[in-house]
Amino acid sequence: MEAEKIEYFRNVLIDEMKSLLGEADKTVTEMTSDAANFPDPTDRATQESDRNFELRIRDRERKLINKIKDALERIDAGEFGICEECGEEISEARLKARPVTTLCINCKMEEEEKERRQ
Ligand SMILES: [Zn+2]
Repeated sequence: MEAEKIEYFRNVLIDEMKSLLGEADKTVTEMTSDAANFPDPTDRATQESDRNFELRIRDRERKLINKIKDALERIDAGEFGICEECGEEISEARLKARPVTTLCINCKMEEEEKERRQ
């Protein structure tokens, strides 16, 4: 892939990481500031489930952040945009839609097919 395009994807990934980290910070702040404000047990229960919900979101965010880190590492290693499975180039349209992907569309479809059969 051309250096210019690599730079484009690097910026996309960094921006996405920044916004995810911004969101993650906000969640932590909201969680800690809310904790002191609900002395009533009913409210605390509601708050507890809200918190589980937040933590689930955070889990997803963390996974995505890791994927973005991996993608940035692949950029540095010169492996970005190469399918992990078959070694072919991943189409730019696919990378634009999902820059963290490590599989070309054919391998991704095969993987999904396998998962469905299990
Ligand atoms: Zn492939």
